[in-house]
Amino acid sequence: MAIRLIASSSSATLFAPSSFSHETETTPTRKLFGTWVCQNNSRFHQNKHFELKASNMQPLNAVTLQAGAPVSSLATERVEKPAQEEYIPFLETEKEEPTLSIVVVGASGDLARRKIFPALFALFIEDRLPENFTIFGYGRSIMTDEELRNMISKTLTCRVDKRENCDEKMAAFLKKCFYYSGQYSSEEHFLELDNKLKEKEAGRLSNRLFYLAIPPNMFVDVARCAKRRASSENGWIRVIVEKPFGRDTESSRELTRGLKQYLSEDQIFRIDHHMGEELVENLLVLRFSNLVFEPLWSRNYIRNVQLIFSEDFGTQGQGRYFDNYGIIRDIMQNHLLQILALFAMDTPVSLDAEDIRNEKVKVLRSMKPVQLEDVVVGQYKGDCDGNTCYPSYTDDMTVSKNSLTPTFAAATLFINNSRWDGVPFLMIAGKALHSKRAEIRVQFRHVPGNLYNRKFGNSLDQAGNELVIRIQPDEAIYLKINNKVPGLGMRLDRSDLNLLYKARYPREIPDAYERLLIDAIEGERRLFIRSDELDAAWAVFTPLLKELEEKKVAPELYTYGSGGPVGVHYLAAKHNVRWGDFGYED
Ligand code: NDP
Repeated sequence: MAIRLIASSSSATLFAPSSFSHETETTPTRKLFGTWVCQNNSRFHQNKHFELKASNMQPLNAVTLQAGAPVSSLATERVEKPAQEEYIPFLETEKEEPTLSIVVVGASGDLARRKIFPALFALFIEDRLPENFTIFGYGRSIMTDEELRNMISKTLTCRVDKRENCDEKMAAFLKKCFYYSGQYSSEEHFLELDNKLKEKEAGRLSNRLFYLAIPPNMFVDVARCAKRRASSENGWIRVIVEKPFGRDTESSRELTRGLKQYLSEDQIFRIDHHMGEELVENLLVLRFSNLVFEPLWSRNYIRNVQLIFSEDFGTQGQGRYFDNYGIIRDIMQNHLLQILALFAMDTPVSLDAEDIRNEKVKVLRSMKPVQLEDVVVGQYKGDCDGNTCYPSYTDDMTVSKNSLTPTFAAATLFINNSRWDGVPFLMIAGKALHSKRAEIRVQFRHVPGNLYNRKFGNSLDQAGNELVIRIQPDEAIYLKINNKVPGLGMRLDRSDLNLLYKARYPREIPDAYERLLIDAIEGERRLFIRSDELDAAWAVFTPLLKELEEKKVAPELYTYGSGGPVGVHYLAAKHNVRWGDFGYED
């Protein structure tokens, strides 16, 4: 009878369980479903298990031996290739079944309450969390477990299709949530946290995920304490950090250097939550699995690409953080640039995280730093509409009265490669505009020698096709096409081929944080930002940000609830994009 010893690394060393006295010699013979399959023609007792250790002596996986084999033969028999491959499912003993401990650092904060705990609960009711998991809130606030549970229960909801027994599910989830109060830079407190985690982990193989929902100036301290005092002894440790990752190239590099003193690159998961949006995830599917799109995805057919992010509200008295960063750092340098890189990258070798991230980095490194003359910055001013008055940005008590921080920016970016040479990528991001949305608009060139030119008159470009990928709200993909109006005459109309998600897929779309959390738990890095990607992204915007600050460029004022400053018309005209093309007519 054959045995397969399965390890997750070709450099693994195989150790027999305590009842075996020798290490065995095994040869990884081929890779099956991402795991190396080692072969041995010995026969073994049922339910004996190996512990596999990597070069750092950490256990990798467990393997089950087949029935009937003499234990001693394990150490002595040579590995031989059996006539036929046989795959033995991976089994683990009770004791070895891994546990997952999730530590939400900054548990009392807005992000934790509004996003992280609800996303973890959603994963729990979808059965996406492992059987043995524990969630610990950590922070300086003094709270009991009960108080934490009470706080987070207010933001938990069951999805429409999971409403049955919702209260029971909530109670079961909350029972798994605990709180530990400590300082962010205290190794002693993290050691105590470690003891609490160990109690819950009960000697099982333990994996630990730290979510740093705290201001970034605390990231390195927490990374140090977590790594030194609360690392798993036998499983993995991963740390999720949220933007902002610095204010410019230098501060971002400093943060990366600081984190890397304690964590390796593959232990750091830099989140850009827009990367977890359903439609952003779908971008690759749309491009690479539909023949009708990929051949058109270049300067030959695309006239311009617009990446739009607008909010219909201002800072609402919460402007302190924003005033220090502004819209370019807050939205453009990360969210919009990440989406642009995914949109514009070449076909990756595979869907593997590193292959995708390699292609994204190439796009970012092919971009010219944004020039001041290709940018319009604005700041909203107050307005009254009937009885309702809207404040200006500087009316926010948490913002400096003389603030020059842009609440709106439009910028034209170019990618200097053979695919995109000369195609303007227009980014627009703003607060207090007339609508709330995030979308990508792809405008195609007009049909050369179009037989129907006369029907379009002077607005030939307006007759070009446009693909709109609406990320938020009301997820949709629609393609504007020219169509004949039914009837005896020849009248043309612009119509939409419309894939509206809520009509086609009548189920709730998971929140971006759910996807990102499950990816981090599963070690899938595709949607997280690698440090070289981050560096390349800052290189695109840092010179502009410095120039704006050094020259104290005053933002153009625009009315609360409008379409943004007038200067955007000129910027658009400069690149042959009409104002109406920004999709405000939809
Ligand atoms: P909060 O300001 O609510 O802070 C989170 C927690 O951190 C607080 O509850 C507090 O916990 C602790 N904290 C706050 N200020 C300090 C300080 N000066 N020194 C030490 N600890 C402090 O932030 P958010 O929850 O809004 O965001 C957390 C991180 O995520 C931030 O970096 C933010 O930029 C980023 N982010 C947030 C988003 C959101 O939607 N809120 C979206 C994207 C990114 P305690 O007092 O108990 O220690």
